[in-house]
Amino acid sequence: MPLISDFDLSAHNTLALRARSRFGALLDTPEAVPALFEEAEAKGLAVRLLGSGSNVVLSPEFDGVTALMTIAGRAILSEDETGVLIEVAAGEIWHDLVAWTVGQGLGGLENLAGIPGTAGAAPVQNIGAYGAEVADGFESLLAYDRVAGDMRRLTRPEMAFGYRDSLLKQQPGRFVVVSLRLRLSRPWQPNLRFAGLAELAGSAGLTPLQVMDRVVGLRQSKLPDWRTHPNAGSFFKNPIVEEAEAAPVLAEFPGAPAFAQPGGLVKLSAGWLIEQSGLKGFTLGPVGISARHALVVVNHGGGSADDIRALAAHVRATVVARFGVTLHEEPVFL
Ligand SMILES: Cc1cc2nc3c(=O)[nH]c(=O)nc-3n(C[C@H](O)[C@H](O)[C@H](O)COP(=O)(O)OP(=O)(O)OC[C@H]3O[C@@H](n4cnc5c(N)ncnc54)[C@H](O)[C@@H]3O)c2cc1C
Repeated sequence: MPLISDFDLSAHNTLALRARSRFGALLDTPEAVPALFEEAEAKGLAVRLLGSGSNVVLSPEFDGVTALMTIAGRAILSEDETGVLIEVAAGEIWHDLVAWTVGQGLGGLENLAGIPGTAGAAPVQNIGAYGAEVADGFESLLAYDRVAGDMRRLTRPEMAFGYRDSLLKQQPGRFVVVSLRLRLSRPWQPNLRFAGLAELAGSAGLTPLQVMDRVVGLRQSKLPDWRTHPNAGSFFKNPIVEEAEAAPVLAEFPGAPAFAQPGGLVKLSAGWLIEQSGLKGFTLGPVGISARHALVVVNHGGGSADDIRALAAHVRATVVARFGVTLHEEPVFL
């Protein structure tokens, strides 16, 4: 497998961090995956994996091989009156997959339109938006298991999906996703629970395309564009806390966003907590919290992983001091 020397990753992460890797490799076939690990092991090189780099904070230097997942292909495997089973290769762009299904009148993925990144990374943190998650229609995935040294099919129960969580996130670096199988149920049931979509309920002849267009419009109106304001989307997960931890927040702000979870837990809004802590638009050196959305960390130019770590630590400390709630980061530091 040809290795690229001194691989520049600055254009391969949406935070636009300047980053280099001693070597790079393109994984463009399933067979290339085990081949790369065999070669890297023989040469004593560490390997890390990247899709579109939309959920990572990259260190300036990596002394190993950074492999970009680029395997392409998508197909309908089977369909009947209960649904459609699709298969997508890990290197496909997630939004293109959504648009491809919706373009054929197939509903199920439209609420997840506009999320950057590759299909292979989607199950890693169980991407979610507008009341939907990739876990909803997940059937199975094919992954190279670096521990077993073999390809393995993981089914939904094995994936241990949770809020921005899965087996792949819990065992980082172990599995390299090669393809996914997703089931789109028939008849289509639009998921319009989320604010902004609810007004579409009852529209005569509503189509998945109309819902997708609304989702894309809502995202564009709320989130800074990473191409002009480099960012990694939501930087902190919404904290899921004990009722006792949420109580002081809700006593002071009875209207604060709070959603009951199983087990008597409460999900608070990280963006709301950050904004109420006075940090919307806050900058620390070359990085800062977006003035448009308090959950988004922006690299204003020339920022590094250390700058982002320092900002994240400041945000965590400020929110703990103000509300007693601990925030956890969503992107992966690589
Ligand atoms: C503007 C913006 C908006 C966003 N909005 C949302 C949102 O609404 N909801 C949401 O959930 N996320 C959101 N995200 C985060 C991001 O889009 C998702 O996490 C996406 O799935 C990351 O895909 P990627 O290909 O860029 O992964 P990368 O950032 O390249 O990698 C992320 C992690 O996955 C691993 N990985 C990548 N590919 C594979 C593979 N094939 N097999 C195994 N591991 C792999 C990497 O090693 C890394 O640990 C947003 C990001 C941005 C920039």
